[in-house]
Amino acid sequence: MKKFFIRAASVLLSAALIFNASFGAAEKKTASAEAGAVTFVNFPESVNGGEPIRGVDVSSIISVEKSGVRFYDDRGREEDIFKILHDHGVNYIRVRIWNEPNDGSGHSYGGGNTDLDTAAEIARRASKYGMKMLVDIHYSDFWADPEKQTRPKYWAQHSHEVLKGEIYKWTTWVVKVIDEAGGNIGMVQVGNETSCFFCGEKDMYKICDLFASANKAIRDYDRNILIAHHFANPSNADHYLWYAKVMNECKLDYDVFATSYYPYWHGTTENMTSVLKNIANTYNKYVMVAETAYPYTNEDGDGFGNTISSYSKGVDLNYDISVEGQTKALTDVFQAVADVGEKGLGVFYWEPAWIGEYNVSQQKQRENWEKYGSGWATAYASGYDKNATETGGSSFDNQALFDFSGHPLSSLDVFNNVYPKKQPPVKYETAYIGDLNKDGRINVYDLCLLKRVCFAEKPSRMIPKGLCDLNADSEITTADIVLMQQYLFGRIGSFPAGIKTELPV
Ligand code: CA
Repeated sequence: MKKFFIRAASVLLSAALIFNASFGAAEKKTASAEAGAVTFVNFPESVNGGEPIRGVDVSSIISVEKSGVRFYDDRGREEDIFKILHDHGVNYIRVRIWNEPNDGSGHSYGGGNTDLDTAAEIARRASKYGMKMLVDIHYSDFWADPEKQTRPKYWAQHSHEVLKGEIYKWTTWVVKVIDEAGGNIGMVQVGNETSCFFCGEKDMYKICDLFASANKAIRDYDRNILIAHHFANPSNADHYLWYAKVMNECKLDYDVFATSYYPYWHGTTENMTSVLKNIANTYNKYVMVAETAYPYTNEDGDGFGNTISSYSKGVDLNYDISVEGQTKALTDVFQAVADVGEKGLGVFYWEPAWIGEYNVSQQKQRENWEKYGSGWATAYASGYDKNATETGGSSFDNQALFDFSGHPLSSLDVFNNVYPKKQPPVKYETAYIGDLNKDGRINVYDLCLLKRVCFAEKPSRMIPKGLCDLNADSEITTADIVLMQQYLFGRIGSFPAGIKTELPV
């Protein structure tokens, strides 16, 4: 994520407030197409249980919920957002972690208060629905992107060697805390949109040395965790190839070359596929999109101007700004990663639930941002980040996958349309043929049930056919009733179909 907030605060705030209505189609460039399924062919079985990553970054969610935002399922019932995401096919949760996102006196910088405790809470909640974690460590006290990679304030004066040691210790601590909170860590991302700038360092060779320290901490903790490095803009193809080349020269031990891909900033999907494919094949690395998003509306839900709208200049709005356009954009990003081939892992959507409290005054919105840290920055952030001169809310609520009242948009269904899906293994139980009520014996009660099944009375649909088809002719008829009667009178000791069968639980 880059350049979101300055632009939002200084340029678009007034526009968003004034033009809080629908716009014409003048700048719409592409008619939306019916969203199609995306299949990752030959996806590696060793990654994510053989399923492509269908991920979202919901780092702000705890502060958003504290601000009074509620979320709803497709039927309009209030529900835990992690369950809603899971039910829509999301299988991976990304969370950013800042070292000390506060002024040292208990005042949050905002941006979701995404410290380690907050991340652990998100991991705990995601694990309830079996979703894996991508732990995105920024190695900063606040937003890290291509333009700012400010060192944590307590590390500011460290030499390179001391910094390396701190990075090792911090990385180990982060992974341990998330793990022990019950998080299922599938991947750790070392640095956010680093692009030759990381933790205050701008020398790529020294950056690789710092990366190596973090990577060793992860390998020492658990060799099954994938290690990712993350870069910002694949339209700079030469830069990308150079980053990958230097990391290779430095013999950096990592697994995933990750990129942001915002369609309005980062070139074509074809170029992104080409760049990632080149790196994947040259250096034998996995690749993925760690952040993407696209607007579905020009409206603003929280009174804090949005980064992208029809009025944005110098950007590529190649899809409708509509739910259909957003759906197509996200589908195309998944397809672009799938087109890389078997090294393409998947996509994370950035902050799909970063919305404000619904239908409250501007004053109340501002109170929420300051009190709960649910906006991009509080008044205390400027003490650390010189760019954070204006406080505010979400510049991204028009790119969410939920509407301003917390109901899922149909674009959230894209995740359910990405394949392959691996069903959980089916469990079986042993059952006895003829024991229709499964009470461990065959008696007159089973005969009564069998007659009801045979004559299509309730509760026939609830009794597995395999328990009723005593002569194994694939039908339930009076012949089976006769066999049951013969069994109960002691004339036969078993049925032609046998004694036991296995039924799915
Ligand atoms: Ca907004």
